[in-house]
Amino acid sequence: MGNRVGERLRRSLLGGIAILALTVAGTLAGTAAANAYVLSGCKWPGANIKYSNYTASLYYTASSQAAANWTTATDVNLSTGSGEPFSIWDNYNSSGAVGTTVRSCNIFGHYTSTAVYGNTFHMAALSANCKRLVYGHEIGHALGLNHASGNVMMYSSVSVCTVNGVYTVQPDDRNGVNSIY
Ligand SMILES: [Zn+2]
Repeated sequence: MGNRVGERLRRSLLGGIAILALTVAGTLAGTAAANAYVLSGCKWPGANIKYSNYTASLYYTASSQAAANWTTATDVNLSTGSGEPFSIWDNYNSSGAVGTTVRSCNIFGHYTSTAVYGNTFHMAALSANCKRLVYGHEIGHALGLNHASGNVMMYSSVSVCTVNGVYTVQPDDRNGVNSIY
């Protein structure tokens, strides 16, 4: 009896994973020729997504503008709330990356939490536009995108802004998020 219940649970867990894998594979197969975006396999349950913004001053401006840009450019609607599982922060870490997003995902492919960090150790020297790029990039991770190639917000280096001037949602970034929501 105990074994049979365990087996049923295992089978339902595998079923959830299989549905997720089919969804991702189907999306990639249908759009691979025209798009470079890469999905994480996780998403928020709906397109109306609330976040809590714990940043201050310049970083509040940059992160708010970045969130508003995703709302304007894509099918998601980001708005501020309090105590949300999606949070945005500024921190100071002399050995860390310029930006980091910590993501937790359940077996149904839904985020249970995402925490976006802009590292002020690196960001202090960046222009207002490139501060915004860092938050826009990390919010892209929090929406379900992984790194992509080319002059896109989801490129893996801040050089996409400092060298190439990209700081807003690009068509490929938009296609990626709109394929999820
Ligand atoms: Zn990244």
